Amino acid sequence: MKTLVLNAGSSSHKAALFDFAKGETALWRSQLDWTHQAGRVELTAQTADGRQHQAVLATEDKTTGLRWMLDTLVEGPVQVLSALNEIKAVGHRVVHGGRDYQQSIPITPAVKATIQQLFPLAPSHNPANLQGIEAMESILAAVPQVAVFDTAFHAQMPAAASTYPGPYEWVEQGIQRYGFHGVSHRYVAHRTAELMHCELSDLQLITCHLGNGCSLSAIRDGISVDTTMGFTPLDGLMMGSRSGSVDPGILFYLMRQDHCTPDELDTLLNKAAGLKGISGLSNDLRQVLEAAEQGSDRAQLAFDMFIHILRRQIGAMLGSLGRLDALVFTAGIGENSATVWQAACQNWEFLGLQLDPAKLQRSSTDQDIAAAESKVRVYVIHTQEEWAIAQDCLKILGA
Ligand code: ADP
Repeated sequence: MKTLVLNAGSSSHKAALFDFAKGETALWRSQLDWTHQAGRVELTAQTADGRQHQAVLATEDKTTGLRWMLDTLVEGPVQVLSALNEIKAVGHRVVHGGRDYQQSIPITPAVKATIQQLFPLAPSHNPANLQGIEAMESILAAVPQVAVFDTAFHAQMPAAASTYPGPYEWVEQGIQRYGFHGVSHRYVAHRTAELMHCELSDLQLITCHLGNGCSLSAIRDGISVDTTMGFTPLDGLMMGSRSGSVDPGILFYLMRQDHCTPDELDTLLNKAAGLKGISGLSNDLRQVLEAAEQGSDRAQLAFDMFIHILRRQIGAMLGSLGRLDALVFTAGIGENSATVWQAACQNWEFLGLQLDPAKLQRSSTDQDIAAAESKVRVYVIHTQEEWAIAQDCLKILGA
């Protein structure tokens, strides 16, 4: 079954095509990016056999862009299909599924209505996700579509973990911890169980998704029982340009003292904080580390804070588990930075966690970097969110 996966964002779209007969390597991947040139979209595409394509089209219209992207599947240098009707399913990454969706689900008018109702909770994601769904419905009219929610994996968190200690009315208003990056946390948890030759239901894990956005999940018996992101993806860890958790009293102070508006606070905490805000340089950890090595105090502080908060939150996740079988790193930082693996693991020796110094190198394959005698395994796993979404389509729609 050939399945197309779409991750439609507000200014860029990513898509991948899988054929289950050929395994988890995408036959074709493509990206549309509207951020670099006003009124124009840049397309990049590549195939599993190494063909590449780049082009620019003068359009701001997302559906036109998607149509053009899908045309590259059937003609030109990255063609992999003879006709679009070979696509039997489309899986959509949808950021917010609210309290309604604990699992992936075929898209119906009712599902679309719920995604729309949730716009206020995910204003920069759900509208783009719905727009992507409607565009694909118009391009591939007869093909079943599936919504895969980033919140779904966390939807079974116990109420004590998902409820904020505000007034009880918040519960009725849906103001609660939802958690995000669920597709990634779920994928790496299953992959860890596979690598440990165990049932996921027998394991207790902490998964660390460390990319531009960062979050942790405490996973017991295959269920996310706690996570660091909350009502929005702003909560929890320090991130590339997001603050993570800060004392909410700071917001009242800025509103009263500097007359900051909600939009200004939103920009401050989402775009001008985190590694970028503290280092004054970049949201990219590689650049922050480079500057720290060259003697930048602010870059060093940004890195030290990133690690301090990561360790503190790993500690918080430990409190939601009864033991720790494995700590798992994934996403851009988690898959690549041996400096982060070492620093993040340093304080957990009392748990019997020991890294193997010989294994602290980037690898293109998933690896266990713990020492043989370590009582806690430590995995570096390459997250495969698109593949996980495609697999959900297969599960839901059948072969
Ligand atoms: P996103 O959350 O947007 O999907 P990624 O998971 O691709 O992002 O992560 C991107 C981030 O990963 C970059 O901003 C960079 O900070 C980090 N990163 C990538 N490679 C390395 C590396 N070798 N060392 C440290 N950080 C890295």
